[in-house]
Amino acid sequence: MAPGAWDTVILGGGPVGLTTALIAARQGGVLVVLPRQAHARTPLRIDCVPVSLLALFIELGLHPAELGVTAVHHHRLVAWDSAAPQVVGSAGTVHIMRPILERRLLEQVSAHRAITIVTDARLGALPAAGRFLDATGRRAVTAEHRYLPANPAVLRASIVRGAFSRAQQAFRLASLPTGYAYRLGTRDMLMLGLVQGREQWRASAGPLAEKLGAAGVEWLVAGMPRAAHESSSGGVASVQWSSGSGRAIRIGDAAVARDALASQGMIAAEVIVPLNRSAGRNAGVIVKLLLFRHGTQHFRKAAALGVSCAANTTSRSAGER
Ligand SMILES: Cc1cc2nc3c(=O)[nH]c(=O)nc-3n(C[C@H](O)[C@H](O)[C@H](O)COP(=O)(O)OP(=O)(O)OC[C@H]3O[C@@H](n4cnc5c(N)ncnc54)[C@H](O)[C@@H]3O)c2cc1C
Repeated sequence: MAPGAWDTVILGGGPVGLTTALIAARQGGVLVVLPRQAHARTPLRIDCVPVSLLALFIELGLHPAELGVTAVHHHRLVAWDSAAPQVVGSAGTVHIMRPILERRLLEQVSAHRAITIVTDARLGALPAAGRFLDATGRRAVTAEHRYLPANPAVLRASIVRGAFSRAQQAFRLASLPTGYAYRLGTRDMLMLGLVQGREQWRASAGPLAEKLGAAGVEWLVAGMPRAAHESSSGGVASVQWSSGSGRAIRIGDAAVARDALASQGMIAAEVIVPLNRSAGRNAGVIVKLLLFRHGTQHFRKAAALGVSCAANTTSRSAGER
C-alpha cells in the first residue's frame, strides 16, 4: 500500500461503507478495507427501506427489480395499543433482499477503477489518507466507547418461501408483553421477526410462528405456512452509538445504530456524518455528497435520536461485546 495514494480510506463493507465508497470515488482514489470473512454468504433477510432510497441505488447502477423489489407499500397493519390491527397509512416503502444489495454493491465497488479493495488490513497499518471513515457497523472498531442498553434488544427472524399477494407482503407490526414482532415480504418470500431483550430470549424457547400464535397475534402469521420456516439473520436491534477521538470519522451504524423498528437504518445512516463533532474539514465534502437528496428534516431526526436516548444507556469499551 503506497502511503498517501488514496483520498479516502473506508473500513467496512456494509451498505454504508460501500455506498460511500462509490460516491467518494467520484472525487478521487478510495481504499476499502474488508474483513477476512467478507465473502462469507450473507444470511437471508428482507429489509424495509423508504422508496426514496431507490433513487440513490439506481444512480449507483442497482435496479430495484434486481434487489427483489416487487411493490411500493403505502399501508401497514399495526397493533400497538390494541389487540386488533389497524390499517395505518405511511410514506412509500419497499422491501429489498438484503444479501443481494450487499452483493451488488460489492460488485459495483470491485469493478470501479478508482476503488481498491484489501482484506484484513491491521488498523495501525492503514495508509495516510485525506479522509478515514469507519463504517464497521455496530462494532465501531475505531471508537473508544460504545453506548448500548444493559439488556440489548435482539431480533430473531425466520423466512418462509411461496407465492404471496401484495396484501400478504405488507408490513405488519404487533406489540407483545416482552417486545414486538413484525412481518414483511416480497412476491416469493415472507419474513417474520421477533424483537425482545437478550434476557427475555434466554427464558424463551420454541419456533417463532408458534410463539406468536400463542401470544394471541394469529393475524401476524396468517397465510404463512407453519412448516418450512428457515432461520434468517437476526442480531442486536437496540439503539447504540459510539464516541472517541482520533482521525476516524465513524459513519452508518458505527456512529449511530437505530432500533430495528425505525426500519430505516440505511437511509438514516447517510446523514450521520455531521453528528461526528470531531469531523475534520474534509469530512464536509462527504457530508454534502450524502445529503444531496435528504434534507435537514432527516438530520434533525437523527440528532434528536442521539440526544433523547442518552439517559438510558450504559457505556462499554469498544470490543467488549
Ligand atoms: C435484524 C435487523 C433488521 C434490520 N432491518 C432493517 C430494515 O428493515 N431497514 C433498514 O433500513 N435497516 C435495517 N436494519 C439496520 C441496517 O441493517 C443497518 O442500519 C445497516 O446495515 C448499517 O449499515 P453499515 O454499513 O453502517 O453497517 P453494517 O451493515 O453492520 O456493515 C458493517 C461492515 O463492516 C464490517 N467490519 C466489521 N469489523 C470490521 C473490521 N475490523 N475491518 C473491516 N470491516 C469490518 C462487517 O463485516 C460489515 O460488513 C436492520 C438491522 C438489524 C440488525
